[in-house]
Amino acid sequence: DGVALTPHRQPADQDVETTLRPRKLAEFVGQPRVREQLELVLHGALKRGDQPDHVLFSGPPGLGKTSLAMIIAAELGAAIRVTSGPALERPGDLAAMLSNLTEGDVLFIDEIHRIARPAEEMLYLAMEDFRVDVVVGKGPGATSIPLEIAPFTLVGATTRSGALTGPLRDRFGFTAHMEFYAPEELELVLRRSAGILGVDLRDDGAVEIARRSRGTPRIANRLLRRVRDYADVRSDGAVDRAVARAALEVYDVDEIGLDRLDRAVLGALVRSFHGGPVGISTLAVAVGEEPSTVEEVCEPYLVRAGMLARTPRGRVATVAAWRHVGLTPPDHAPG
Ligand code: ATP
Repeated sequence: DGVALTPHRQPADQDVETTLRPRKLAEFVGQPRVREQLELVLHGALKRGDQPDHVLFSGPPGLGKTSLAMIIAAELGAAIRVTSGPALERPGDLAAMLSNLTEGDVLFIDEIHRIARPAEEMLYLAMEDFRVDVVVGKGPGATSIPLEIAPFTLVGATTRSGALTGPLRDRFGFTAHMEFYAPEELELVLRRSAGILGVDLRDDGAVEIARRSRGTPRIANRLLRRVRDYADVRSDGAVDRAVARAALEVYDVDEIGLDRLDRAVLGALVRSFHGGPVGISTLAVAVGEEPSTVEEVCEPYLVRAGMLARTPRGRVATVAAWRHVGLTPPDHAPG
């Protein structure tokens, strides 16, 4: 129930994200280093009339990897073809995609770490020589026919750059790691989104929503939509600090962006297990959730927010966690 604070794209995000997606590098908020470096890569190649190097974006979901892929195509004045690692199970799928490219296209492969090995090997040659070897026939009679493909720029996105094989990683000329956004950057994202959606977002309202958005533009935009509902129904539509606070209270999103499950996890850790260490499955049972949900949805943000520490013996509540639950931390709690 409530508003999802997962950084993963939810079906309800789809349409609005298309509307809110920045179209040009200059519209893309935050990530100043990535933006500057990317601008040099793209404009350098444009100036020389070259095909830009392949680009890899890594980082957590919802930080703008897909947006940047689309921006690359827009900056280059090129068409973009979109696919994903899991969709490229058979090399034939990739061969079809590659042979349909026209010169200068951008090929975007999301979740590129999930590409199947044979397709990945086909990608090496395509990235390096703009060529694919299509295997015809089976067994000893099989022959491979080299096929030229149009020069293109591959943009890969991954949430797990560590899961990429060395040979694949080495074929990207430019790699950018996306960082979580600072609250001030999220305020800018929110102001921009409010402008597009026609929401009367006041400065103090933006501060309040940004603080609870877990460093993630996707979550910021989601919270903005829920706060806007509240403002339209219970007030005059203006989103100021008081309205944002009241709305997010209805949705159970607290001061630092924790939802009910996050708080339940912290509460159990502190109260039932005296701050730990405790294993993730035990913790999950205590809050009546799947261990995978606790591990993949709650834990990453709790760790990043400095509430939870991972130790070899299990999860431990930090001083901040004890305080957040309203209790005095014991001496053994890590800082
Ligand atoms: P996933 O890994 O789940 O595919 P992603 O990293 O590709 O996520 P996007 O889909 O690009 O993330 O971004 C999600 C939404 O957040 C976009 O539709 C856009 O509205 C907003 N957004 C992301 N980054 C920015 C930014 N820097 N400036 C403005 N809006 C942004």
